[in-house]
Amino acid sequence: MAAPLALVVGSYNHDYAWRVERAPQAGQTLRGDAFRTAPGGKGFNQAVACARQGVPTAFIAAIGADAAGDGARRLAADEGIDAHWQTCTDAATGSACIVVEAHGQNRIIVALGANERLDPAFLREREALFAAAGVLLVQLENGVEATCAALDLAQAHGVLRVLNPAPVHDALDGTLLARCDLVTPNESEFALMLARTGGARIDADTLAGRDDAELHRLARGLGVPSVIVTLGAHGCFVSHEDARRHADARPYYRVAAEHADVVDTTGAGDAFSGALVAALLRGRGRPLRDAVVHANRCAALSTEHRGAAEAMPRAADVERRFGSGSSA
Ligand code: AMP
Repeated sequence: MAAPLALVVGSYNHDYAWRVERAPQAGQTLRGDAFRTAPGGKGFNQAVACARQGVPTAFIAAIGADAAGDGARRLAADEGIDAHWQTCTDAATGSACIVVEAHGQNRIIVALGANERLDPAFLREREALFAAAGVLLVQLENGVEATCAALDLAQAHGVLRVLNPAPVHDALDGTLLARCDLVTPNESEFALMLARTGGARIDADTLAGRDDAELHRLARGLGVPSVIVTLGAHGCFVSHEDARRHADARPYYRVAAEHADVVDTTGAGDAFSGALVAALLRGRGRPLRDAVVHANRCAALSTEHRGAAEAMPRAADVERRFGSGSSA
C-alpha cells in the first residue's frame, strides 16, 4: 500500500505588494518605492511548507480561469504538489493587495474570489484522496460548506483532522470545531475563538504571559481534543484533552521558540501548520511534542526570509540548522 498523503484543502491567493513611504489618503495617488507579486493564500503556503518537508502532499483549491490561476498551477507543479484545481469561470483567482509603509505597518485587502466557490461536490468527487490521506489540513479562507465537507470526508476515512483557524470569521462556531481533532490558532485567533464559542473574553496580548494551567483551562473550553496556540517569538502552548492519544507525557506544556534572525514573519503560522502536518504524518505513533518541535524549527527558519510560500524551509535547511535526524 502507498504511504499516506498529507492532504491540504484550502486557498490560493496571489499577493500584489507595494512598499510606500505612507499609505495614500482618500482621493490621493502616491508613487510606491517597490512592487512585488508573490504566491500566497494560507492553504497554498501550508501545502508548500508541508511538501518541502519531503512528505507526499496533495492540495485541493479553486482558482479562476486567468493568468494568476495559470501561475498557481505552475508553482504547485514546481513544488511537486499533487494539486487538484477547481477552475471557476465566474470568479477570479483570489488576490491580496498589500501596502507596506516605511515604518513596517501593513494594510491588506483580500478578495477571496474563487476560493469562496470551492464546491463540496468537487471534494466528494475526489474522495479517493481522502481515503489515501493520513492527515487533513484546512483553514478558513474557503466557504464554510466546503471546509465542513472536507472535515466530514476525512472523518469518514479515519483521517486526523487539523484546522488552522485563520482568519477567524463568523462561520467559526462550535459545530465546525466539533469536526476537528487539532487546531492551531495564534494568540488573536485563540482569543476570538473563545469569544465566538461563548468562552472567556481575554486580551490576546496578555496570553503568552498567562499561567499554563489557566491557558489549558481556556483551551479546554473550545471542545477540541488538542489545541496548539502559537505565540510568535514565545513559541507555542499545547493543550490536550487526552495526552495519551498523541503519545504525549503531559496534558499541557510549552515549547520555546527557536532563535531566528527575523527578516519577515509573514507566513510563520503557515510554516508552523504545514510542517506540523508533515511531521505528524511521518512520525505517526511518536509523541506530538516531536512534531511541535519540528514545526517550531520550520516556522523560525521561515522568518529569516521574505515572503510566505517562498520562505518555507526545506527538510535540508532544517537538518543544516538543527542537525541530522531533525527533519520531519
Ligand atoms: P505566530 O503566527 O506569530 O504565532 O508564529 C507562528 C510560529 O512562528 C511561532 O509559534 C514560532 O514557532 C514561530 N515564530 C514566530 N515569530 C518568531 C520569532 N520572532 N522567532 C522565532 N520563531 C518565531
